[in-house]
Amino acid sequence: MSRIPIVGGNWKCNPAKLAEANALLEAWKAKPFDKEKVEVVIAPTALHLGSVKKTLEGLGMQAAAQNVGKNDMGAFTGEWTATHLTDMEVAWTLIGHSERRSKYGETDDETAVKVEKCQAAGLKVIFCIGEQLEEREAGKTDEVNKRQLAAVLAKITNWDLIVLAYEPVWAIGTGKVATPDQAEETQAAIRAYIKEAVSEEVANKVRIQYGGSVTPENCAELIGKPNIDGFLVGGASLKPSFMDIVTTVG
Ligand code: PGA
Repeated sequence: MSRIPIVGGNWKCNPAKLAEANALLEAWKAKPFDKEKVEVVIAPTALHLGSVKKTLEGLGMQAAAQNVGKNDMGAFTGEWTATHLTDMEVAWTLIGHSERRSKYGETDDETAVKVEKCQAAGLKVIFCIGEQLEEREAGKTDEVNKRQLAAVLAKITNWDLIVLAYEPVWAIGTGKVATPDQAEETQAAIRAYIKEAVSEEVANKVRIQYGGSVTPENCAELIGKPNIDGFLVGGASLKPSFMDIVTTVG
């Protein structure tokens, strides 16, 4: 089964100014891409999201939130819900990014509640998983990925709304990219687990991104691997050359 690759840009808490975000998008305009061959989803800060969404759409890209609340509407200061995102016509959110897990204490159970809310609201999710360096060194990579996935599987009824992102934590923002063989081996194990725990049909269709120090230089070899269906890009998505990653994939 052929899977349309998907490239995400996670801007994290960047850039400092809306004008810089607009300048970046202006630079991207110079390098169009084939929308039939690659899907592109960009996650600006929550504050910039509303302002840049139209420009993103003009470029043939979609907008995403970087996070979503686990509660419903109500007395939850500082939060927003999947319903708010769909009402604002934002079709995507990230859930479970390693920075949410490690810096904000997000648990597997919380990611499960968030996924459940997104499924109910019809919101698409890039669900992030991945092991810490000590876990890889202890041979626990597959175990960690399975645990993070197992927490949410029962909540997923519509797999068309789910993309997985395998992001080894030791590769995020460090310049230490997983080798294409390491990424492929782990992502093949993730797909095998989905086959065993869900179904062969879902395993064949679900797209699995690789994330962690992806650049225009290293992306071609990674995308050549059969179980790598695109990327979730952090630092390199804040540069004009992000479009080189997009056009390499598509
Ligand atoms: P990076 O971040 O590309 O800067 O390593 C990836 C991510 O956090 O999604």
